[in-house]
Amino acid sequence: MKPENKPQLLLKHYLKTLKLPTMLRDYEAVAARCAKDNCDYVGFLLLLVERETLDREKRSAERRVKNARFPVIKTLDTFDFKAQPSIKQKLVRELMVGQYVDRRENVLIMGNSGTGKTHLASAFGFAGCMQGRKVRFFTVKALVTWLMEMAEQRQLERTLKQLERQDILILDELGYVPFSKTASELLFEVVSRAYERLSLIVTTNLPFESWVEIFGCERLTGALLDRLTHRVHIIEANGPSYRLRQSKKRLQKPDPDVDEGNPPSRQESDSGDV
Ligand code: ADP
Ligand code: MG
Repeated sequence: MKPENKPQLLLKHYLKTLKLPTMLRDYEAVAARCAKDNCDYVGFLLLLVERETLDREKRSAERRVKNARFPVIKTLDTFDFKAQPSIKQKLVRELMVGQYVDRRENVLIMGNSGTGKTHLASAFGFAGCMQGRKVRFFTVKALVTWLMEMAEQRQLERTLKQLERQDILILDELGYVPFSKTASELLFEVVSRAYERLSLIVTTNLPFESWVEIFGCERLTGALLDRLTHRVHIIEANGPSYRLRQSKKRLQKPDPDVDEGNPPSRQESDSGDV
């Protein structure tokens, strides 16, 4: 290996200091290619800076996806609209573009279990991450439990402020479990603070008439619905459960690799969901 000369060492040092890891990794290869192709100095610099920029965007998108804490990564590519004709494809595709986030509008996804609500909410969130937005995914139950813990540790205000800094907050599975009074109030606080500050994506199996039963207070439910639905896009999924259909299909066409009589295996992505 030939010993590195002083300019090389200095260059590496500066690239490290300036936090330009892709340029550090690639400059030698790009320099060799440019020398071969008779590319000028500006062309060389452009190639390197382009690579650094692309890598940086990729790294920050990956970081945003990690911070969002999706239970499973889902995108629209794997969503079969034919399986759920009640879902308006045009609206879903429009929302994927993300302008609703700039307008601080909310998305409410309503429907029975297994109709793709969590899948769509996650896909909106993932698209948001790719578009440079800060996203956080919670099941409503997990969010409320966390907020209660934070309240006990006198960290509630800090935690709520942290949530306010998101661009998209996904609240999955509203309505599976009724709330205590404290839990209702905490969720109301989250929705109030989100109002006109950020976009909420809420999934629920509950028709509006039943929300009072979950929140236990008519006045609070009214105020919460008012804020949530002031500017909202509603996606309704009222078809059959996709899970059930898949299971039935598997039962009808037994997998040749599986012994007869075995129950169909649960899908990996189906874990922990009601
Ligand atoms: P929900 O949240 O409405 O109960 P999920 O979004 O969790 O339903 O969907 C259950 C499973 O079925 C997931 O693995 C999801 O990816 C899949 N699924 C549901 N609907 C569709 C669809 N229309 N196309 C493809 N996969 C779907
Ligand atoms: Mg779900």
